Amino acid sequence: MKKYDIIIIGGGVIGCMTARALSRFDLKILLIERESDIGMGASSANSAIVHAGHDPMPGSLKAEMNRLANPMWTQVSEELGIPFKRCGAYIVAVGEEEYGCLAALKERSEKNGVQTELISAEEMRKREPMINPSTSGALFTPTAGMVDPFAACVASIENAIENGVEVLTGTAFTGFIMEGKKITGIHTSLGDFACRWVVNAAGTYSDEVMHAAGVRPDFKVTPRRGEYYLLDKAEVEMNNILFPVPSAVSKGILVLGSTHGNVLVGPNSQSTDDKENKSVTPDGLAEIWQGAQKLVPSITPRTIIAVFAGLRATGNAVCLTPGVNYHNDFVIERATEVEGLINLAGIESPGFTAAPAIAQRVTELLADGGETLVEKQGWNPIRKTRPRFNHLSREEQAALVAKDPRYGRIVCRCEMITEGEIVAEIHAPLPARTYDAIKRRTWLGTGRCLGSFDMPRVVELLAHELNLPVTAISKKGPGSEFLLRPTKEVEA
Ligand SMILES: Cc1cc2nc3c(=O)[nH]c(=O)nc-3n(C[C@H](O)[C@H](O)[C@H](O)COP(=O)(O)OP(=O)(O)OC[C@H]3O[C@@H](n4cnc5c(N)ncnc54)[C@H](O)[C@@H]3O)c2cc1C
Repeated sequence: MKKYDIIIIGGGVIGCMTARALSRFDLKILLIERESDIGMGASSANSAIVHAGHDPMPGSLKAEMNRLANPMWTQVSEELGIPFKRCGAYIVAVGEEEYGCLAALKERSEKNGVQTELISAEEMRKREPMINPSTSGALFTPTAGMVDPFAACVASIENAIENGVEVLTGTAFTGFIMEGKKITGIHTSLGDFACRWVVNAAGTYSDEVMHAAGVRPDFKVTPRRGEYYLLDKAEVEMNNILFPVPSAVSKGILVLGSTHGNVLVGPNSQSTDDKENKSVTPDGLAEIWQGAQKLVPSITPRTIIAVFAGLRATGNAVCLTPGVNYHNDFVIERATEVEGLINLAGIESPGFTAAPAIAQRVTELLADGGETLVEKQGWNPIRKTRPRFNHLSREEQAALVAKDPRYGRIVCRCEMITEGEIVAEIHAPLPARTYDAIKRRTWLGTGRCLGSFDMPRVVELLAHELNLPVTAISKKGPGSEFLLRPTKEVEA
């Protein structure tokens, strides 16, 4: 049986950033992800905001992790070479009653150590010309920002791999191997692996992983689905993050720009018992459209190019801070019932923001648990980036094409993605092996045609570079292959 010091279950942002943080130390680490690629859960279907921290309950772990992590994103994004804009965010009031709520939000923000500024209706209209003209003012949180969420996952795991971490995708955790109360390994769909520590970063399944070790039987994750519209960047432009005044259960339906230039509308919040249900519904979509029009009445449905949904891993953990009455806190702990398990569970929003601080906390939990953390010689926090053709000047583009003519062949015309970039992703430290893996890494196929021009060429490139038949190339893993047989071949 192959032996590791630490096995991380789950390749979302929490698992990937934890792998990167631990790759600094002289440890043998494996990350397993059951899907065909990392970042296919909540980590790539969210609002992509690095929250300032105005919203979490003061005294909760959510508030603490948000406060610690927010400033870390400047360094993290520079080291990983990922898009991040610290543009600030606005909580926009419409009408006098909502304006009255901003004072309470300001007070909560201050308790969380978050800088805020109340701005007038006139100033809000100046800063965002598309805002509802009936706005009565806003609370501005200057430290909020927008990030490319999938880039953050892929860049952190690539950096971890460059520093020695091993990754197995398409590998599901199925149970623990225990000696008494001590975890000594795990069973997976790809066989057994021995280890001294397991880090549970399984998102909506984090409760089931805990239960498999007999830990916290009362802890339950009940996913809350959030639906979104993605708008055509050629039609709508916005560089701001606009929140409504929040409700008791969510931060409300937002309208916001993104690092890719598209505007996002959503999410709503619907509890579901189905951990796989990422469908969108007519009622849900109507709800988010109505919510969006409250903030930006001028947006029109003809600008919509895609819909999607993500599942928040809402847990029922009670906040441990005395005097704080809160029931959906993060779980970030070394299990006390068994030896060798760290649980990162119930990591709903602001979990993406919190990821670098949670990863740092894991190193502290390991040290407290008796693990000697020796810094590896030659550890390199800088991830090697690959050229993005449409971000280059004409001169840089010409130089790149002269060096490698594949950068001169445009495969996705809306996003200007070249053959050179696609091939580079297929041979990256974590190889992109499906159409969606290429799409998430390059943003190819996200314009008006939604990939109808580029898809056949991408399938050919994947088949050629991976030395596979075209019939083996899939959208997102086994079962989603594009092609069954040549058209002229008689069906068996
Ligand atoms: C609608 C919505 C909006 C949000 N907006 C924001 C926001 O703007 N800002 C913010 O900070 N946060 C936001 N969040 C929260 C944020 O997205 C999550 O907190 C974060 O992505 C959680 O990361 P994770 O790694 O814990 O979970 P995930 O990304 O879900 O990763 C868990 C991984 O574990 C894998 N896994 C599960 N079971 C197994 C198994 N048995 N074996 C192997 N692998 C397994 C899954 O396949 C998955 O890839 C939002 C979430 C949603 C849903």
